[in-house]
Amino acid sequence: MIRPAQSDLQTLAVHAGREDFLALGIHAPLIDLSSTYPVPDPEAGTASYDAMAAGGTPQGSAIYARLHNPTVARAEQAIATLEGAEACVAFASGMAATTAVLLAAAMDGRHVVAVRPLYGGTDHLLESGLLPIEVTFAEPHEVADAIRPDTGLVLIETPANPTLTLLDIEAIVRAAGKVPVVVDSTFATPVLQRPLAHGATMVLHSATKFLGGHGDVVAGVVATSEAWARRLRQVRILTGGILHPLAAFLLLRGLPTLPMRVQLAQKTAQDLVARLAAHPMVSAVHFPGHAGSDPMGLIGRQMAGPGTLIAFEVHGGVTAANALMRALTLITPAVSLGSTDSLIQHPAGLTHRLLDPAVREAEGITDGLLRLSVGLESADALWSDLSAGLDAAAETIDGAIMSPLQHS
Ligand code: PLP
Repeated sequence: MIRPAQSDLQTLAVHAGREDFLALGIHAPLIDLSSTYPVPDPEAGTASYDAMAAGGTPQGSAIYARLHNPTVARAEQAIATLEGAEACVAFASGMAATTAVLLAAAMDGRHVVAVRPLYGGTDHLLESGLLPIEVTFAEPHEVADAIRPDTGLVLIETPANPTLTLLDIEAIVRAAGKVPVVVDSTFATPVLQRPLAHGATMVLHSATKFLGGHGDVVAGVVATSEAWARRLRQVRILTGGILHPLAAFLLLRGLPTLPMRVQLAQKTAQDLVARLAAHPMVSAVHFPGHAGSDPMGLIGRQMAGPGTLIAFEVHGGVTAANALMRALTLITPAVSLGSTDSLIQHPAGLTHRLLDPAVREAEGITDGLLRLSVGLESADALWSDLSAGLDAAAETIDGAIMSPLQHS
């Protein structure tokens, strides 16, 4: 059998997790909906149970669906392949995955160093006091000094939600020393960035986004070493944040088109960035690779391309931003991202609503900031919609403004 090179993501995405189809005589993944599994040999059953309780995979009977599911295991295997990881553990959502990572790391040390900006839900979880952890928020250059003897994890997100700020993973890994680093790489996908190749211990995705890719599945995944996967499986068994096999099937169905979807939407995003940056109602455009937004030269070195998310700021703040969204007829005003259709949302009003307003301000999540997830529509169709939205936004402002553009 031909084994695609690790760099040939186009082929890997089509075949990963499907290697045994020919031998099984199937062409689509089987969906195993069993909630429990027969244990005809009690002693063998106990041995299998012990293996899974230690974070391993079943030795024979899977015993019970909260411990293991073969459809989920297939999706995990596929994503591990795409990330170049030994293993992957799937969860009921991205937030369930983040929670499991924080709990698994807390077995070593309860102190977490996190770098903002982060997805609003992640930020809120870290601040909530809900988990047995203590969190220090650090700027990238402060990470080394923030590490303590009881630090169990460094958590970063790059590109960050919603500002698309980039972090140098290798620099963070160096600063973390022996402390494991988890990278939320949801915005990049394995098509554009493989954090494990840059020294990260774990890579996390809200698979609700690009990996599922069609806006019809909620899932989270963590790709990592087998040793960390064992811990994560133990946490998953205890906390029950398992992925449903139907969701795993949908996740698997999304993967073969992942490279194509990301590359097409990325091309459209680059086109739209140029048009947005030239529009007088737009005061700033944030897009990896756009003038001034990649000071560390990470595109090419860490990321294979800028991705498909655009953050832009409109003159006139929330009133103008809301007018823009109300005027849209093609782009769906909705949270989430990475779907076949384009989605737009107002981070200060939705995804990052629960953040302290001072933190929002410091992170550049202004009242006029909109986050656009570019889908698979044509650039011209999307621009027609956006320019109608920008016209509507302009009507909320008295007279013609327009300060010089800042690009970042
Ligand atoms: N990480 C990032 C970067 C996200 O954007 C999100 C959700 O928007 C999450 C994690 C949480 O994922 P989920 O909504 O699947 O729980």
